[in-house]
Amino acid sequence: MKRIGILTSGGDAPAMNAAIRAVARKAISAGLEAYGINYGFAGLVAGDIHKFAAADLDDSIDEGGTLLYSARYPEFAQVEGQLKGIEQLKKFGIDALVVIGGDGSYHGALRLTEHGYNTIGLPGTIDNDIPYTDFTIGFDTALNTAVEAIDKIRDTAKSHQRVFAVQVMGRKAADIALWAGVATGADAIVAPGHDYDIKEIAEKLKRNRVDGKDYGIIVIAEGDANSDAAPEFLEKLKEYGDFDARAVVLGHVQRGGRPTARDRVLASKMGAYAVDLLLQGKGGLAVGILDNKVQAHDITDLFNAKHQPDSSLYELNQDLSFK
Ligand code: ATP
Repeated sequence: MKRIGILTSGGDAPAMNAAIRAVARKAISAGLEAYGINYGFAGLVAGDIHKFAAADLDDSIDEGGTLLYSARYPEFAQVEGQLKGIEQLKKFGIDALVVIGGDGSYHGALRLTEHGYNTIGLPGTIDNDIPYTDFTIGFDTALNTAVEAIDKIRDTAKSHQRVFAVQVMGRKAADIALWAGVATGADAIVAPGHDYDIKEIAEKLKRNRVDGKDYGIIVIAEGDANSDAAPEFLEKLKEYGDFDARAVVLGHVQRGGRPTARDRVLASKMGAYAVDLLLQGKGGLAVGILDNKVQAHDITDLFNAKHQPDSSLYELNQDLSFK
């Protein structure tokens, strides 16, 4: 093995650059060449590929977004698209790859391995919705962005005695909502997998008023991208009381920003580990971190597993917030 290709695919996430840097630097320091592939699988098929010099990765560890750009390219699910990608790998002499993305990207990584090009997947998504890893690259930064925003919303909520329903990203995974809810001391968390009683939440907000807390913060998981979960929640809440309430959809601000130290370190560990696996001649694996140990599992195992958010956070928040 002489040349490793790197691409980012699916939704972007903070610290993807730290992961790209780690893969490229580790490859170069092991005597290999590293090639960046722009625009995910679309760029692979188009041959949008360039060699990395070690210096190209200077000043990248602290940058949000992905310097390799990302794209969605459904055509890669077809063999025809995959074979076009293989042609480019042959042309550039790339023997193995690291794909940074979500579960869709892992399908592409597995197909490349099946075509004889060992490929390792790194979990790059703010949603934290990948099985066999406690944390994904970008989750911690997105969580901290959400927490910072909710802290600011609390200031205005207090000043105007308002209830805010704050919708956070995470799609079907409730991780950002659960963690941000506990971290901000939310009055309630509304998230998939956890039934809630809207009347009970309304009663709690009213009791709070009587007790002297005349504002409220409800953290709402989006459930689906582009959903109106927070406005819809407020419509229902208003049936149970006269609340001065506002919905805030935090949106894509959670995808950007300088990665936290935790995400940078996670991405660096995972990126270097991916190169170790390729050097051992392994492919078709997804890197994760479990109990603070970086490890790898068959990508096929991930497809048969379901990510489990830390549900104990929901109960914890109820214990700490519901009086
Ligand atoms: P995110 O979680 O942020 O959405 P993702 O990696 O799951 O990230 P997808 O859009 O599902 O995002 O997939 C990214 C890309 O992976 C697709 O645009 C496509 O190029 C490739 N891909 C997805 N599914 C397959 C598949 N079944 N076979 C081959 N390639 C695939």
